[in-house]
Amino acid sequence: MNKVILPISLLSLVFTFTLQYYVLSADYLNQIKFDSIAIAKTSEADYSTLPNFGGTEIRNVILVLGDGVGLNHILASRLILYGPDGRMYCERFPVIGHSNTAPLDENYITDSGAAATALATGHKTARAMIGMTPDSIPKTSIIELFRDAGYSTGIISTGQLCDATPAGFSVKSPSRKLKEQIARDISNTNINFLMGASEFFYKKGNDSKTPVEIAQSRGYSIVTNKAELMNINSNKILALIDSMNFLKDVYYRDKLPTLAEVTIKAIELLNQNKKGFFLLVEEDGTDDYSHSHDISGIREQMKQMDEAIKVIVDFARKDGKTLVIVTSDHETGGLNIIEANRSKSFMKIAWATGDHTPQPVPVYSIGPYSQHFSGFYENTFIPRKIAEIFNFQHSK
Ligand SMILES: [Zn+2]
Repeated sequence: MNKVILPISLLSLVFTFTLQYYVLSADYLNQIKFDSIAIAKTSEADYSTLPNFGGTEIRNVILVLGDGVGLNHILASRLILYGPDGRMYCERFPVIGHSNTAPLDENYITDSGAAATALATGHKTARAMIGMTPDSIPKTSIIELFRDAGYSTGIISTGQLCDATPAGFSVKSPSRKLKEQIARDISNTNINFLMGASEFFYKKGNDSKTPVEIAQSRGYSIVTNKAELMNINSNKILALIDSMNFLKDVYYRDKLPTLAEVTIKAIELLNQNKKGFFLLVEEDGTDDYSHSHDISGIREQMKQMDEAIKVIVDFARKDGKTLVIVTSDHETGGLNIIEANRSKSFMKIAWATGDHTPQPVPVYSIGPYSQHFSGFYENTFIPRKIAEIFNFQHSK
């Protein structure tokens, strides 16, 4: 008997392994990308939770968006930059919530257009749509509510100014792909401080005018490099500087202003309005590098975002009337950490997809009224709550 059973068992074992190998390699392993990267030694710095501040008086809101940044991007960046016992600056914020990023679409996984629209207008929409509902009804954005109520407003993106996230906060379009028109419309918004990479802003439209020329006719000062930006004092600025998404390239890093420098400059200008201001700061490269599974690119962009958040909070604490919210539009890449070793100071990461995922994203907040942003909610809750705090009427 044994003589018969043994070969059969061996055969079935070989068959099972072959089948498992086939299934894993074909449907699973081929899609997961692995990478190893060094993590920092434990730092001695103070990583305690920041004390909250602010009373009932509120003047300014600064919203920081890390495109594609999920909880594991923050965890991985923390390990790489500050070590196992470190913290990214936003992780020290006293109030933490989570938001659901799903769009109003057959596809449950959002893109940056639908996510920006939700975060700006308080309305969910279909993928790729900008500032309007799936049936093309335009909705007012939080930045337009501030602008129309006499506050100063600003948008900074490390990527293209006409890309989905800045567009979702400033204009209306049936598609994020209509970038020529979006650039023209952004130049017409009267938002006081606009900054991003210049693509499509020098392209002539049917009226033979470029978006830059439209902006000039609306009273904007045009700025095209770091020195000009740092020295300007104007109520309306269109800053078209090279993309700040290439920080891992030393050539760019030395030539460009940092996100922290740009943000401080914007705050200095917007804060001249005694009524207050709303400023959106978008770190955009984190999404690109997550699509391409480039962890060293993510490290540089996350470091730049972390430094910008620190100077924002320093300002907000001194001012005492500024609410700071740090969140993301969606997670990109399905990033996970599957091995992390303290003494060997390395970790192994895995990427589940080259696209976005529906993972809820963290929302970190500090300053007056920040306590309202704890808990779990839809991304549309964020602009609606801000509007409520400022007694603005959000569009139904
Ligand atoms: Zn993306």
